[in-house]
Amino acid sequence: MDYRFKILMVSSEMTPFAKTGGLGDVVGALPKALRQRGHEICVVLPKYSFIDTQKYGIELFHYPMGVRMGNKEEWCSVHRSFFDGVPVYFIEQNDFFYREGLYHDKEMNDYRDNPKRFAFLCRAALQLCLDRGFSPDIVHANDWQTALLPAYLKTLDWRNTVLERSASVLTIHNLAYQGVYSKTNYPYTGLGWENFIPGIFEYYNAINFLQGGIYYADMVNTVSPTYAREITTPAMGNGLDRNLRAKEDRFRGILNGVDYEVWSPEYDKYLPAHYSIDHPEGKKICKRALQKVFNLNPDTHVALLGVVGRFVEQKGYHLLAEILEELMNTMYIQFVILGTGDKHLENFYRSMAYKYGDRMGAYIGFSEELAHLIEAGSDFFIMPSMYEPCGLNQIYSLRYGTLPIVRATGGLNDSVENYNEYTGEGTGFKFWDFTTYALYYTIGWAVSTYYDRPYHMKNLIRNAMSRRFSWDMSAQEYEYAYLKALT
Ligand code: ADP
Repeated sequence: MDYRFKILMVSSEMTPFAKTGGLGDVVGALPKALRQRGHEICVVLPKYSFIDTQKYGIELFHYPMGVRMGNKEEWCSVHRSFFDGVPVYFIEQNDFFYREGLYHDKEMNDYRDNPKRFAFLCRAALQLCLDRGFSPDIVHANDWQTALLPAYLKTLDWRNTVLERSASVLTIHNLAYQGVYSKTNYPYTGLGWENFIPGIFEYYNAINFLQGGIYYADMVNTVSPTYAREITTPAMGNGLDRNLRAKEDRFRGILNGVDYEVWSPEYDKYLPAHYSIDHPEGKKICKRALQKVFNLNPDTHVALLGVVGRFVEQKGYHLLAEILEELMNTMYIQFVILGTGDKHLENFYRSMAYKYGDRMGAYIGFSEELAHLIEAGSDFFIMPSMYEPCGLNQIYSLRYGTLPIVRATGGLNDSVENYNEYTGEGTGFKFWDFTTYALYYTIGWAVSTYYDRPYHMKNLIRNAMSRRFSWDMSAQEYEYAYLKALT
């Protein structure tokens, strides 16, 4: 595509500065891919207090900046650094962003002023454009936190300003998080009450940020084609399926890519040894290192199953919990899990690790390093999600020759090819029903393949490692979305 876009991306997360999940990874990688394709792009993020300004060379850029919120003026400053050549602007407003968490405190209680915090982020991003004369063709919003941007662009008066012609794209990374808050927060957003109606911002007498964003965005997308289809159905639409259907050809699914500079066994900086399709020996060393971290039996022949993820209902770890003992008691396996979230699940997996000692390990917490080692050191990676907008871990797993065992939903369905026992083709193991029965037998199928059909395992691993989900391909699809938004 010849057209060069000017893009303002606004997000509440971006790897490596601030991340709780896939959104951070996407915003950490997509801007770079777009820049490499010749577009001019910058990112706006909150300046959370835990971001290491020295490490990232973040410097004061613009001060003071007044942002009109409701009937008051909020003051903030803007800091800047460059990440892989992409300018990243950090909005510093300590009342809002000087917190230890992004969205909630340690007890997982949402910050009560989240609607104000993120409404402010949106307005501040637009104010920065006005103050610094940046005229984006596209304002790219991500999830409910920045879903007010399309509404601001469409409903406020931007005549004779740099934002006069800007179009908006809204990416939904997870439809379950919609930003539904009491309407008492509405005046602070500065949006007119005429927008507080069902189908736009009103949702059962509360504000729904995402719903308003979907309505006003020039283009909406989500992060996989299957999830895009699923969420236009009442069963999986989280109450917004009709709103999405109404977008017609202004809604589509674009599968996420992977930042292979960060997630490749050839040069992963967290691994004790590197490996590739043609030189797979290093994987065993990683497996051994993983066993050591969790004090497991140093047996590299045993099938090692790994899990990394947030302990929330979506991920299906409660389903896995129901069959874990049966798995451990009936199969010759080792199992490791890394995650945090639901306290019952945290306690459950911790106690199972204690019970099964040298066959099972659990790390309750967040560790980037361990996430990489689990990807590399495991033989299988389990993702029994109830729904999965895209899912990144299974795509990482493919690259690391760690076969994913997934429920065929959303991006899991789009990125994993089921094993065909007759031909040996495929890249992983899929099941469809969200039941303990289906999960148990699919894990059994994978484990028996591991022991009984090593020639097929080799083939599956080769297939998996050779698949590519590059950001360059996805970036190209975002270009089409941008073009559509502008027309
Ligand atoms: P989601 O965005 O729903 O959390 P994804 O699979 O899209 O799921 O992305 C999850 C990302 O977050 C991956 O990079 C994964 O490694 C990382 N992650 C999740 N939980 C943890 C954890 N406890 N420690 C380290 N990384 C984690």
